[in-house]
Amino acid sequence: MRISVLGAGTMGHGIAQVSAMAGHDVTMRDIESGILEDGLDAIEANLQGGVDRGKVTADEKTAALDRIDTTTDLDSAVAGADLVVEAVPEQMEIKQSTFEDVEAAVDDDAIIASNTSSLSVTEIASVLDDPSRAIGLHFFNPVHIMGLVEVVVPEQASERTVRFGSDFAEDLGKEAVVVRDTAGFASSRLGVALGVEAIRMLEEGVASPRDIDAAMELGYNHPMGPIELGDVVGLDVRLDILEHLREELGERFKPPQSLRRKVRAGKLGKKTGEGYYVWEDGEVVGVSEDAAAAGQASSDDGSEGPVWE
Ligand code: NAD
Repeated sequence: MRISVLGAGTMGHGIAQVSAMAGHDVTMRDIESGILEDGLDAIEANLQGGVDRGKVTADEKTAALDRIDTTTDLDSAVAGADLVVEAVPEQMEIKQSTFEDVEAAVDDDAIIASNTSSLSVTEIASVLDDPSRAIGLHFFNPVHIMGLVEVVVPEQASERTVRFGSDFAEDLGKEAVVVRDTAGFASSRLGVALGVEAIRMLEEGVASPRDIDAAMELGYNHPMGPIELGDVVGLDVRLDILEHLREELGERFKPPQSLRRKVRAGKLGKKTGEGYYVWEDGEVVGVSEDAAAAGQASSDDGSEGPVWE
């Protein structure tokens, strides 16, 4: 098939990579050629990592790279595409104008997909003349490693579109879960619910960040605890999703104060070197002082507060 990927950032280049590895012809589009070059470099580096680990052969790497074209021109990016997947920034206006531009330039029977992690696909697709061709394909980061694609079904989607989306995800070697288009879908809603409760527990002085995370890692077999995971995803991203879920689903998703403070201070987690943990070279090296202070301040009732490392 011919796949068009719009956006060459974190997610776009990953979707282009797995599509090319599955044998599809891919055109990746971004608004600047420098970003496209960075995206291609990242794909090359990922595939080389696969070669080094013996998971990809050198020939497969070369063939996959040969199947990827890049352009800054939207019309040529989507011309002849069977499927267009947008991975542009998480803003309704950008998503909707992208969908409108795509529909004007693409073949009548092409499927148009959004990789949104939280916005309503029904609303994004409402700008299309034919919204039955729209679907959410929610990939996870890093795309070439993570095994899940959430197939998000908007109100107007046709059966053909849903089947096309699921088949495509499975053809890439991913597990497809089909969810109705509701706020936070299945994954973000549950993941964020756990994360927000973990931060509240921290603020109440229930336990240290490390012990809350260890409880989930060792007691529930989660590969990473909810506080550390928030740092990895990015606390700004978590805050945006919480605001959206609070609006849609109610106060149980109200963002905790310590999360707001951290985002205001630019302490966004792994990517900035500090969130609830302190990070160096992509690894946790300690607990943020404010994370400890958050718990101790709220348990400052005369009793002895928790003592964290
Ligand atoms: P990103 O900022 O890394 O990449 C977005 C890219 O889109 C940028 O390179 C930007 O130049 C480009 N862009 C902007 N306007 C464009 C346009 N009109 N046409 C083509 N490209 C355009 O963002 P990202 O993290 O890759 O996120 C993209 C989408 O994927 C968002 O909807 C996000 O919610 C979703 N998502 C992100 C993650 C994640 O962990 N980062 C996970 C799942 C889903």
